[in-house]
Amino acid sequence: MNKHAIMQSNVTVIDHPLVQHKLTLMRRKETTTSDFRKLLREVALLLAYEVTRDLPLTSERIETPLAPMDAPVLSGKKLCFVSILRAGNGLLDGMLDLLPSARVGHVGLYRDPQTLVAVEYYYKVPHDLENRRLIVVDPMLATGNTAVAAIQRLKEDNARTIKYLCLLAAPEGIRGFHDAHPDVPIYTAAVDQHLNDHGYIVPGLGDAGDRLYGTK
Ligand code: URA
Repeated sequence: MNKHAIMQSNVTVIDHPLVQHKLTLMRRKETTTSDFRKLLREVALLLAYEVTRDLPLTSERIETPLAPMDAPVLSGKKLCFVSILRAGNGLLDGMLDLLPSARVGHVGLYRDPQTLVAVEYYYKVPHDLENRRLIVVDPMLATGNTAVAAIQRLKEDNARTIKYLCLLAAPEGIRGFHDAHPDVPIYTAAVDQHLNDHGYIVPGLGDAGDRLYGTK
């Protein structure tokens, strides 16, 4: 196991010092929208580095200027990042900085206030999900309801190899998520204390979408 990550019940906390430092800057209420966005992009690149640590390699015959050699290259299923709208897009940019050839899907869901059922308002993903290694991204795993519904939808579309990547997770969200999708590992930079009555992560960082896009 990667010694820079702590594994607990299918949750990997990415405790790299750069990730933790940048996360602290993002949590601070004084941090401006433009700094928040920039930091999220930087953290996303670092998180992508850790979440792809176990990608399989094969070797390819190449020639350096000095000699031929068998050199490692990525093998197996191609990557697809799936952003849960809208805050997921803030993570996407940094991940694409690191892996620019990954395919990208977008899932938009809202919770019907009457029925509390997740309703899909946008869904666009590559057609061949069964042949891809999916990394589903959303900065905040709070109640977990949206994440559970998004992954359910992707599984109905034949997604088979899925990881979930967030910045912050609440213990309540982790429990609900793993009850619904025990086969999907979670990667996060931190597990916070609890959810408040409004479904916000405490201490958290506030509303990730609003802080990212300056909508409040
Ligand atoms: N979504 C957010 O943006 N923040 C939270 O704390 C919880 C859900």
